[in-house]
Amino acid sequence: MLGKQNSKMEHRPSDGHHQPKNFRQDLTNDLIKSLEESDGLPWEFGWDTSVIRPFNPSSGVKYKGVNVVRLLKTQADLGLNDSRWMTFKQANKAGYSIRKGAKSVVIEHWDWSHLQAAHKEELKEQDDPGDQAIRKAKEAALKSYGRSSDETHEVYRKERPRVFFSRVFNGADIVGLPEIKREVHWQPNELAEQLIAATGAKIEHSDVSIVHGEIMSAAYYRPTQDKIVMPPRDRFKSEGDYYATLLHELAHWTGHPSRLDRFKPDQTYKGWLSSPEYAREELRAEIASVLLSSMVGIQGRVQNHARYVQSWLTLLKQNKNEIFYAAREAEKIVDCVFGYAPKLREIVESRITDNLLPKQRPHEAMNETEAFEEDLQEVDSPAP
Ligand SMILES: [Zn+2]
Repeated sequence: MLGKQNSKMEHRPSDGHHQPKNFRQDLTNDLIKSLEESDGLPWEFGWDTSVIRPFNPSSGVKYKGVNVVRLLKTQADLGLNDSRWMTFKQANKAGYSIRKGAKSVVIEHWDWSHLQAAHKEELKEQDDPGDQAIRKAKEAALKSYGRSSDETHEVYRKERPRVFFSRVFNGADIVGLPEIKREVHWQPNELAEQLIAATGAKIEHSDVSIVHGEIMSAAYYRPTQDKIVMPPRDRFKSEGDYYATLLHELAHWTGHPSRLDRFKPDQTYKGWLSSPEYAREELRAEIASVLLSSMVGIQGRVQNHARYVQSWLTLLKQNKNEIFYAAREAEKIVDCVFGYAPKLREIVESRITDNLLPKQRPHEAMNETEAFEEDLQEVDSPAP
């Protein structure tokens, strides 16, 4: 029998596995494969109500953006119902070991905290034409991470953000980790109802409606009237499907100019439906509604998804960063929706608090960067 220490060492992941520099391309390729093989995003299948949004029970980190996409996809692929993820070091420190043959998943983390914005005028004076070209290229790259151009102008002249990659293992592969607590201390459909009501979104139920001369019986959001139209409840296979669909439409609703302002008013309806921007909007709304549903505990699926698959494939094949943009926007959508009901957010996140490991520093006391730094490897930032 192998000693505890030996068996831990034996399964330490090698550095050659999952090169972090291919993180985006790898994930994009995986998603393309899923879309081509099953006509849908991987988490649409085998969805389980007890799935909690992926988190780290050691540091308390709730994974965000593209890390959530990566981790949810792995959970769906491997049929894992455990949403807990920990690094090798964290598992070791807590007295657990990693199951033989377990594979780690690479996640990424961008740290902006050390970047200090310099004075804009001062920078302008120092700018020579060569610098300007480099700055422009870097600005465009940084912009994709949600920085305003003013901010990036100032920031990138100084320093780059620090990029970390970390390898985490699923709770199911951590030997000794107690069973995950899945109790939901609320009624998911009721909580969804409260959350939707808190946003004040205008919702109309209609069997059939006419949009731009076409008869529709589907659920949709109409930006010009700022309203969600839903088929009657009894048209859905289950209450869960109804709420999953409504949360998807609510994700679109956040795009209104008075909220996250994502829609371009100068587009015609037909032009919009065939635009890449529409495919992007559907992809981000899809990821957002998956996150919202998993947080609330909704057991249901959004209907009529297959029609977006082709446009998503086109998007993803063209640019490996699309999934990152979509995941980042989805995170903003989730924050926007729960921004109307912070108390409800506390309630749904109690499932994460319930599963934190004992004797850890309370996660409130650790900022996200500190938590990630517990077991990270810093590498050169890849070109976004
Ligand atoms: Zn949609």
